[in-house]
Amino acid sequence: MTDRQTDLLIIGAGIVGLATAMEATRRFPGMSVLVVEKEDHIAAHQTGHNSGVIHSGIYYKTGSLKARNCVAGAASMKRFCREHDVAYEECGKLIVATSRDELPRLEQLLQRGIANGVPGLRALEPEQFRQIEPHCAGLRALQVPSTGIVDYTAVALKYGQLIELAGGDIVLNAQVIGLREDSGTNIVETKAGTFAAHYLINCAGLYSDTVCRMAGVETDLEIIPFRGEYYEVKPERRHLIKALIYPVPDPRFPFLGVHFTRRVNGSVEAGPNALLAFRREGYTGAGVDLSEAAETLSFPGFRKLARRYWRMGLAEQYRSWVKSAFVKSLQRMIPELQEEDYAPGGSGVRAQAVDKNGNLVDDFHFIHRKNMIHVGNVPSPAATASLEIGREIVNMLAQCFEPDIS
Ligand SMILES: Cc1cc2nc3c(=O)[nH]c(=O)nc-3n(C[C@H](O)[C@H](O)[C@H](O)COP(=O)(O)OP(=O)(O)OC[C@H]3O[C@@H](n4cnc5c(N)ncnc54)[C@H](O)[C@@H]3O)c2cc1C
Repeated sequence: MTDRQTDLLIIGAGIVGLATAMEATRRFPGMSVLVVEKEDHIAAHQTGHNSGVIHSGIYYKTGSLKARNCVAGAASMKRFCREHDVAYEECGKLIVATSRDELPRLEQLLQRGIANGVPGLRALEPEQFRQIEPHCAGLRALQVPSTGIVDYTAVALKYGQLIELAGGDIVLNAQVIGLREDSGTNIVETKAGTFAAHYLINCAGLYSDTVCRMAGVETDLEIIPFRGEYYEVKPERRHLIKALIYPVPDPRFPFLGVHFTRRVNGSVEAGPNALLAFRREGYTGAGVDLSEAAETLSFPGFRKLARRYWRMGLAEQYRSWVKSAFVKSLQRMIPELQEEDYAPGGSGVRAQAVDKNGNLVDDFHFIHRKNMIHVGNVPSPAATASLEIGREIVNMLAQCFEPDIS
């Protein structure tokens, strides 16, 4: 017995699930679309706990899904915000080299950005970049004028409204607890009832691997949660940062390094760091979920990852515990800001897929089986690229099932 039938069921009302649902209602107006979400509101996890940056696409390997979808996604995100009255700002950003060994990497970023089609990039000497950020220190900087800022919770709420306007439905407090197949139909058991769905798309973010396994799909990927903590620059010192200031990232690691981000509400955040978290929704360092920690520790990929990155992991942990170490990293870019200028801020947890060999999966990754698509890895810049990712997923759906659903 099922409580309800639908053509397409999407698990997870984060920005990726909602963008996919919105695109499905647009492309297939006759199809019934249902989103199920375990929390009592949408954008409850990564989508509502991020830096709010519309990334330009400069960082990602040329030709990768990240590069293509980020460059296109930044443009479509800004267009969406204009069309639907969501506040955003194309404030631009500086990526600053503060030591000589970073200069070749800054040049490589410039070349990669050009190859990826990021518009308006310029390499600037100190007297030039200080006209943009007068308090910024460094040897050389890359100006990325197309980078922007937005509140992704506001974007996700707008996606939700458009889904409902188009006849789709979002069911909250509906954690998926079981998945099985019955005569080619997906039977989705949730805490809000059982649904029968012809097609299923798993956009469960930090739990996408768990949901994948629940569906009986073998994958050698596991989501490893990385917590990112922020400080907030005190209001009286915010004037020292005009827009966004980033360091040159360490190419061995998929995160961008602690940076300054002006938010659309005018506040300025510093962070996030990247700490191994032993709870997928662990927003503070306190409390370990024993079963989740055991799952992570017993995954062979995690043990290999830990062996490879233990030094970096310890340094990040030290920087989390010792505020002066966090501040020291930021002072390379803005020397005037002292420890007392920062107040504790929020945090977010990133879902990063790791394979059984301990490699951090760099690109977006999707797993496609029968009448299901599992979104296996959509870390940053997936909020920026959400409209394009939604299109990619619906294209996959159309390619595989068009004869059935058109
Ligand atoms: C600290 C941080 C900073 C970031 N900064 C940026 C940035 O500046 N720019 C950018 O583009 N990207 C950024 N990102 C990345 C971006 O936020 C994510 O890539 C994006 O939000 C992923 O969206 P999602 O829908 O896949 O995941 P989520 O937003 O996590 O949504 C998944 C949803 O699935 C639900 N769910 C899970 N399990 C179940 C279940 N069993 N049943 C029902 N529902 C379930 C969850 O409750 C959740 O609502 C950042 C991420 C973090 C954490």
